[in-house]
Amino acid sequence: MKRLPNGAFLLEKSRGANGYVVASGEQLALIDPGMAGGASGVIAELRDAGMLGAVRDVLLTHYDVDHAGAAMAVAAAAGASLWITRLDAQVLTGQVRPATVFRRLSTSFGKPRLPGTVSYIGESAGFPTGVEAVPAPGHTPGHVAFRWQESLFCGDAALVRRDGSLRQFPGFIITDKPLALRTAAALEALDVDWVCPGHGRPTRKLRS
Ligand SMILES: [Zn+2]
Repeated sequence: MKRLPNGAFLLEKSRGANGYVVASGEQLALIDPGMAGGASGVIAELRDAGMLGAVRDVLLTHYDVDHAGAAMAVAAAAGASLWITRLDAQVLTGQVRPATVFRRLSTSFGKPRLPGTVSYIGESAGFPTGVEAVPAPGHTPGHVAFRWQESLFCGDAALVRRDGSLRQFPGFIITDKPLALRTAAALEALDVDWVCPGHGRPTRKLRS
């Protein structure tokens, strides 16, 4: 568990994508616990840090396996609610067909599992205080970013450059490229000091 200068914690045992822990009142919210193969390591890491019982919410930026694979196991171990947007949950349950060939292929392998009861971001009651879900569609249809204090947790809505500006992933993994570009521009315009991406380093924005 690594404490970041912005006050959040970065998971060190998660696999596949960056996972973060932030304070929400007296409790904790965990953003993107990573691949299923990293679940036991993340649970042990939280337990060793004395945090496991305080994690009340597991928040997913989107449904991809490298972000969401461990979510069900980690949420169960912590006794936490699992949050995802309805649109992205519907891709996992098969109600919505991914829009591109690559996404249809990628979601056919190792699809993250969801528990019987999930909480829907933007719909269900009890979303963690101090965290704001910012719609960030494009990479997946229901992708969201999370704003907390002076930081933006952008998942795979964008990659971050060294100066804190945002750029897009290669087009083939994006569900809707024009939408993803509009999302990145909107996120870049937010007044935050830090960008904590799903892949790459948490980065302080350079102010011009
Ligand atoms: Zn992704």
